[in-house]
Amino acid sequence: MRYISTRGAAPALGFTDVLLAGLARDGGLYVPETWPRLSADEIRALRGLRYEEIAFRIMRPFVGGEIADADLQAMIADAYGTFRHQAVVPLKQLDDNLWFMELFHGPTLAFKDVALQLVGRLYNHVLAKRGARATIIGATSGDTGSAALEACRDRAGIDIFMLHPKGRVSEVQRRQMTTIDSANVFNIAVDGSFDDCQDLVKAMFNDHAFRDSINMSAVNSINWARVMAQVVYYAAAAVALGAPDRRIGFAVPSGNFGNIFAGYVARQMGFDLAPLIVGANRNDILARFFKTGRMEISSVEPSLSPSMDIQVSSNLERLLFDLFDRDGKKLGDAMIEFRKTGTFAAPKESWSRVEGLFRAATLDDPGTLRVMGELHHATGELIDPHSAIGIHAARACRGDRETPIVALGTAHPAKFPDAVEKATGIRPGLPEFLADLHERPERIAGLPKALKAVQDYVLSHRRNDRNG
Ligand SMILES: *Cc1c(COP(=O)(O)O)cnc(C)c1O
Repeated sequence: MRYISTRGAAPALGFTDVLLAGLARDGGLYVPETWPRLSADEIRALRGLRYEEIAFRIMRPFVGGEIADADLQAMIADAYGTFRHQAVVPLKQLDDNLWFMELFHGPTLAFKDVALQLVGRLYNHVLAKRGARATIIGATSGDTGSAALEACRDRAGIDIFMLHPKGRVSEVQRRQMTTIDSANVFNIAVDGSFDDCQDLVKAMFNDHAFRDSINMSAVNSINWARVMAQVVYYAAAAVALGAPDRRIGFAVPSGNFGNIFAGYVARQMGFDLAPLIVGANRNDILARFFKTGRMEISSVEPSLSPSMDIQVSSNLERLLFDLFDRDGKKLGDAMIEFRKTGTFAAPKESWSRVEGLFRAATLDDPGTLRVMGELHHATGELIDPHSAIGIHAARACRGDRETPIVALGTAHPAKFPDAVEKATGIRPGLPEFLADLHERPERIAGLPKALKAVQDYVLSHRRNDRNG
């Protein structure tokens, strides 16, 4: 299995190189050169298997023999062993033919754990095979930081530093990061904004001597391995509900388009899926794209579903690559134009193809609270605001009612207790394994927003090459 860049000007790489590279050198994203296909019999054979076994069978072709089967299986078992539900991603019935897949039983209560718990292990494994170490430095506005830290904690070949804006993340978010008791995890509270944190990370990347001296790497949402790991739950839900002998629908609360793009990959692999449904909050540039074929950037507005407060969805480029018939040069030109003018129009010839593959629905904050309240009344379930948008989108865009539809649940309600309480009158408590979060000791360094100070901190705290 080879991977090519969506911009067409970077060398084709194998799986492990793509894993370590993240972004391609020409600024593009890596995608498989061809989509592996499963036959109807191979899909049928997934029925009744444990999640870990489905994961192995779905991901194996993408790894392309670059990691030994036994090692891949061990990492899968280890990664999903951290989930607090024996089904890993349980599927719940909400009405006649609407289902809810809970992707939030991992260590940080958000769906990002599904991919990152595995990717952290893969990354460490590949580094070890190469006798290398890496220093991961990231910036977080609160949400993804803990998932990345939990994914990398205690990995011998990795040190991870996470910058967050001091006093500007919620207490639960901060504590989910700072109470991780691990010698390779470093939290830095920067006296500044999230943008300051991001600028510091960028500046460290651009300081080539510094970057090379610590083998600096990033945690980002465009790594191919994250998409790959997410294909698994589409497959698991589909076979649980009758694939390949039945068409299945999915509705996905979308931000960076990573989650729902994994659904597109499942379709390319041979799963018969109904048009994939994008759920958006008031930042609905994606939803408008799928309705009109045009994108226009505007400013990001805060909402009750902050993980979807995004204007330009980085993973969309992977879909656009197919839309441009995999012509990287043409896509690259269009993306540069998009950045310059803030508008993008899909090429007319191929738009009709994509149009049939996606639907979209938008929900504002009052609507989100209403859906949360109504669902609680009808089923007793407490759901978070992101998941509510997915459920709304499923109902608004489903075609016939005979096709089972799965709304993806992306965060545990306890991650957004204020919104849940406002919608239902009930304040969800943290699950038992996090119940003492507020008593745990915090480890955190406060630093000014000064490049030198942060670099010095990284250099003096990263572990030496031999003591991992
Ligand atoms: C990251 C995130 C999303 C958006 O997922 P994408 O892959 O970026 O589309 C939705 N909900 C929650 C809770 C998230 O953390």
